[in-house]
Amino acid sequence: MKYRSTRGQVKDYTFEEAVMAGLSPDGGLFIPHHIPTLPDNWRQAWSQLSFQELAVQVLSLYIDESQIPRSDLEGLVERSYATFRHPDVTPLAKVKDGLYVLELFHGPTFAFKDVALQFVGNLFEYFLERRNKAEPEGGKVHRLTVVGATSGDTGSAAIYGLRNKKNVSVFILHPNGRVSPIQEAQMTTVLDKNVHNLSVEGTFDDCQDIVKNLFSNRAFNDKHRLGAVNSINWARILAQTVYYFHAYFLLLRSLNIDAASAEADKIKFDFSVPTGNFGDILAGYYSYRMGLPTNKLIVATNENDILYRFFETNAYEKQTVGGKSKETLSPAMDILVSSNFERLLWYLARDDEKDGGRTEVADKDTALNEELSDKAGRTVAQWMDELKTDGVFRVSDSVVLNARKIFDSAMVTDKDTINGIRDYHQKHNYVLDPHTSVGVVAADRLAERDSLSLLPQGSHAMICLATAHPAKFSEAVEMALKEEQGFDFQAQVLPKEFIGLLDKERSVVHVERADPQLVIDVIEKELKVEGVEF
Ligand SMILES: *Cc1c(COP(=O)(O)O)cnc(C)c1O
Repeated sequence: MKYRSTRGQVKDYTFEEAVMAGLSPDGGLFIPHHIPTLPDNWRQAWSQLSFQELAVQVLSLYIDESQIPRSDLEGLVERSYATFRHPDVTPLAKVKDGLYVLELFHGPTFAFKDVALQFVGNLFEYFLERRNKAEPEGGKVHRLTVVGATSGDTGSAAIYGLRNKKNVSVFILHPNGRVSPIQEAQMTTVLDKNVHNLSVEGTFDDCQDIVKNLFSNRAFNDKHRLGAVNSINWARILAQTVYYFHAYFLLLRSLNIDAASAEADKIKFDFSVPTGNFGDILAGYYSYRMGLPTNKLIVATNENDILYRFFETNAYEKQTVGGKSKETLSPAMDILVSSNFERLLWYLARDDEKDGGRTEVADKDTALNEELSDKAGRTVAQWMDELKTDGVFRVSDSVVLNARKIFDSAMVTDKDTINGIRDYHQKHNYVLDPHTSVGVVAADRLAERDSLSLLPQGSHAMICLATAHPAKFSEAVEMALKEEQGFDFQAQVLPKEFIGLLDKERSVVHVERADPQLVIDVIEKELKVEGVEF
């Protein structure tokens, strides 16, 4: 399986090349040459597998044996999910009739990004070790210097994914004093030698600008081999497809329904996904295209609603509040544009080229598909140019109609987010984090709009993806529940891992000005201390 860029200029990267590069040189994102279909007997064969066994089955459809031999892939998966606290890795909780929560927060940093980043960290280490065994470049070892900016969630998940990995150093910039105390402590209490926290005097946008500056600095990049772990990395999307399949089987198992039976076919599965950069829900789209029975994928946004507006108006339009995204109670979804959406746009553009989106392009490496794929690459490149110059592009009705066959969308305000947390605590004794609340409120709203008849009497199941543990976003949770009779945050929500976290030893370098050169100096000084030769 080879990988191409959504902007058409790069066509034949291997899985390893796509993962190590992150972004394509033409500015596009990597997508597989075709979306694999499931083996005929997948329902019987996979229905009783553990998360890890299922992961190996799903991942190996995209990763050839020649790229990673099966036994190595098994080892990578085993190590990646050994850090999770729950035996099911991503367990499914029934919260009320017909509505289930897929808990993706049982990894080391209590947020869904761990599912992908634990795997990505091991992949980086694996590829580097293999390159070093094969051809240590004239005495120099292959290494990677990962640099990223964070307002909280991504940084901690990246640090936990990369800590103590051989030949990888990680530098995470966060805005000094502007990250929640728990998230700051999660990052800075990791004391491994290869982990470097930089607390920058400035805003999150300043940190992100510095990172962009370093990536476009050719000399610096060549010298240190910069690597990225943001959600555009293909390996992150791929790792996330596994839990859609896992959720499907967990739900059928909990209902005592044989996955290969006619009864299973009657159930309609909707997934509601709190969405920011469209990485989490995109994995659901790939699962659906592979053949996972999926009725709707619900794009649940907060008030940073560029995606919701796209489905309503055909326009993908950047809207800023004083040049920035709006600050909401679900900060991990506070985005202006949604980076992974480009991948979906490519598929929509290609379907549209074929027959106005009436049918999906059957995904095989045929000559026709090459032609359609080239056209899709040109269309996406043009849309992205328009977005860059005008802040907006428009697509035809047929593109949105095609997208709406599988996607639906809802926007959830902060007020409704808080009400959702309160409501689910009162009625169902389940504490949602604010991001998950956005997804659950969206699911309820659409189920009501469409008068869906939910399980067990009806045949619809709403699976809401829980992207963070409520203790990570204590401010919103306490705001919602402070008046509740007998509610005790410490006793009911706080995991034991968070107790005493704020008092642990920390390692952080303060950068007194948001200046790329200062950051370069810090990085090189820290690398020397780490014992890296360059
Ligand atoms: C990153 C994140 C999201 C958004 O996920 P995307 O893949 O960017 O759509 C939602 N909730 C939480 C808690 C996150 O950390």
